[in-house]
Amino acid sequence: MKFSRRIEKVKPSPTLAITALAKSMKAQGIDVIGFGSGEPDFDTPRSIKDAAIRAIETGKTKYTPAGGIPELKNAIAQKFARDNQLKYTPAEITVNCGGKHSFYNLMQILLDKGDEVIIPAPYWVSYPAMVELADGKPVIIQTDELSNFKMTSEQLKKAITRKTRAVVINSPSNPTGSMYKKHELKAIADILLEKGIIAISDDIYESILYDGNNFENIVTVAPEMKNLTVVLNGVSKAYSMTGWRIGYMAADEDIIKKAEVLQSQSTSNPASISQWAAVEALTGDQGVITEMVKAFTRRRSLIVNGLNEIPGFSCLNPDGAFYAYPNIEGIASLPGWKDMEKNFDNDDLSGRFCAYLLEEAKVAAVPGIAFGTQKNLRMSFATSDENISEGLKRIAEAVSKIS
Ligand SMILES: *Cc1c(COP(=O)(O)O)cnc(C)c1O
Repeated sequence: MKFSRRIEKVKPSPTLAITALAKSMKAQGIDVIGFGSGEPDFDTPRSIKDAAIRAIETGKTKYTPAGGIPELKNAIAQKFARDNQLKYTPAEITVNCGGKHSFYNLMQILLDKGDEVIIPAPYWVSYPAMVELADGKPVIIQTDELSNFKMTSEQLKKAITRKTRAVVINSPSNPTGSMYKKHELKAIADILLEKGIIAISDDIYESILYDGNNFENIVTVAPEMKNLTVVLNGVSKAYSMTGWRIGYMAADEDIIKKAEVLQSQSTSNPASISQWAAVEALTGDQGVITEMVKAFTRRRSLIVNGLNEIPGFSCLNPDGAFYAYPNIEGIASLPGWKDMEKNFDNDDLSGRFCAYLLEEAKVAAVPGIAFGTQKNLRMSFATSDENISEGLKRIAEAVSKIS
C-alpha cells in the first residue's frame, strides 16, 4: 500500500509503545514494574466525575460549538486570571481534544512547507513529529545537565533563521522536569521580540512544582510577549484527567479563529461531557492538586536519592512534573557492560540499557534517545512508593551483575 510521505516520516510514540509493552508483559503474568507511563496514577477526583455524570443525565450530550462551550472558555479565562494574573478574553481561548491536539492544530495553522520550529532537546516526543506532520522542520537545540537541560539565549540566537516561525518552551519540562527561571525567560523574550518569533508556552505541568517554586511563563515575565505567545495547557496532568481529552490554547484572537476553522472541519468539538467535567475541574476545589503534589514530592526524593546510589547513575532533582531523567553514561564503563550490550541490537546506550532493564530486572523505563539525548532514561514517578522502591532494588541488582 502506498502511503503519504507525511505519515511515512513519522514514528509511533515510543513512550506509548513502552507502556503498551509493559502492559502486555503484565497481561502474560510477568511481574513488570513500569516507569514508562506519562500520566498521574491517581483516580480522577469524585467531584469531576460527578459533573460528567450530571452532564450526561441533563442531556448535555450533543454537539457544542467547535471551539468549546462558553462556560468552559469562561472557566479557562478565570483560571488564567486567578493562577497566572493573565487577562485573556473567551475570544482568545479555544478548547481542543487534549493538549497534544492543541499543539497539533497550532502547527497545522502556522506552518508552511519548510517553516522551522525550534525545539530544545530533551523534548516531549510528540513535538518534532507534529511539526513534521505539518510539513515543517524541527530545529533541535541540544542541551544537557550542565545547563540543567535548558537552552541558553546564545544557543537560541544561533538557531534562528529566516524560516523560524516559533520556539517551544515546555517548563517544567517533560522529560527533565527542568523549569526556566524568570531571568532566563526574560532573555528569551528579548530575542523573540526583536525577531518577531512566536513563543509556544506548553504549561501543562504548571501546577506540579517542588521546593516552593512559583510558576512563571514567558508572558508573566514579559507582558510585551502576549501577542507573540501561544499558551498551551489542559486538564490532563493537573487533575488526573488524561483519558478525558481536554486541552486548550490561549493566544491572539486571529490565531484562535483559525484554530477554530481547522477544528470545525476536522474533529469538531471535544466531547461535551468532558468539557463539563473540565469546567468543574477548573472552577471547583483546587485542593485535589495539593494532595497529588504532596505524594509526588515524597516519590521524587525516593527515586532521585535511590538512583543516585546506583553505580553508573547520576540524577538531577527535577523542579517540577513527575519524571526523573537520570544520566547513565557511567553504565558504559562498568566492567560487565561491554559483553552484555552485544545482546541488544538497539542503536544507542539508552536503548540497549532499557532493553537490558526490561529483560533482566523486569523494569520498564523509556530510553533517552526518544527525547533526543542518548545518555539518559526517563523514569516516571507517577507510580506507588512501593513500586518505586521495588523498581530501584531490581535496577540495583541488575547493575550489580555488570559491575
Ligand atoms: C501530557 C503532556 C501534554 C498534554 O497531554 P494531553 O493528554 O494531550 O492533554 C502536553 N505537553 C506535554 C509536554 C505533556 O507531557
